[in-house]
Amino acid sequence: MKDIRSLSLAEITEALVALGEPKFRAKQIHEWLWQKSVRGFDEMTNLSKPLREKLNAQFSFFLVEEFVVQKSKDGTVKIAMALHDKRVVEGVMIPDDERSTACVSSQVGCSLSCSFCATGFLKRERNLEASEIYDQIYLLNQHAKAHNGRGLTNIVYMGMGEPLLNYDNVMQSIRYITSPEGLNMAARRVTVSTSGIERGIRRMADEGVKFNLALSLHAPTNDKRETIMDINKSNKLEDVIDALNYFYEKTGNKITFEYILFDGFNDSIEDADNLIKLYKQVPAFINLIEYNNVEGVTLKKAKAEKRDAFVAHLRKHNIEVAVRRSRGKDIDAACGQLANKH
Ligand code: SF4
Repeated sequence: MKDIRSLSLAEITEALVALGEPKFRAKQIHEWLWQKSVRGFDEMTNLSKPLREKLNAQFSFFLVEEFVVQKSKDGTVKIAMALHDKRVVEGVMIPDDERSTACVSSQVGCSLSCSFCATGFLKRERNLEASEIYDQIYLLNQHAKAHNGRGLTNIVYMGMGEPLLNYDNVMQSIRYITSPEGLNMAARRVTVSTSGIERGIRRMADEGVKFNLALSLHAPTNDKRETIMDINKSNKLEDVIDALNYFYEKTGNKITFEYILFDGFNDSIEDADNLIKLYKQVPAFINLIEYNNVEGVTLKKAKAEKRDAFVAHLRKHNIEVAVRRSRGKDIDAACGQLANKH
């Protein structure tokens, strides 16, 4: 049976007309799906019972269902979610004083195998549908409301998978989240994080997207970056920087450089100087992220003294930089730790 949520409004209209129903019913159904986040036809209370029965006979809902919930000491919640084909993805809700941020997955596994990332150890099984990304947000929003008394304020595409290798579905999910026909959330509250897919960055720029873009940089030169991120062999830093400048020209949105500090790998003053050189080539700010050691990975978390010296050096050069504490370490929910232990 076909998933009703894989259909566009035009396709739902066509199906309704074929059932002998007026066209406006399609709009009502579309609103139930994407504005009101219903999870079955029986919740669509302005449809007649016979119509709901006909829809139930023709379409299904490929729902994402949570089945393991873990809560960290710091309030972070990680959920393992089952897809209709029994595959599993993980998503995280990170609360702080002002925000509740959802970190969502875009693929089951990942094809890129970055050497520091637990997800990279899993093979890529498939892309997530737009509705499956939407459902993660729906489920994480329930946790945000239950634990913090308010819904999600921010969404980051930084979970499992490379979002720009599932381009169409990721963009469609963002339309459902940000359009008035969907959840109507401000696009500036959404951030897509990429390992650096030049073509995808240019495509987003051409489409004039309104959301934010982050680059998982993690090393400031091609030579170094290639040793931990294979993607850098086909997408060189200079080409990615050109694409990021193009993105900035078209959208006016500064880029975030995500930089995990690894002990003895990218935490020297020379590395900081190379990072400054990159920073000066594109309007950006830098998030320095504390690593969580991942079983089987040789790269380790940088020492506090090295981290402090690195930050001080950047600040001395007037670089806009924030240091991000890792969250949810005790439940393997922190950056680089999503690995589907379930
Ligand atoms: S860091 Fe991102 S792109 Fe790299 S392996 Fe992990 S999930 Fe894939």
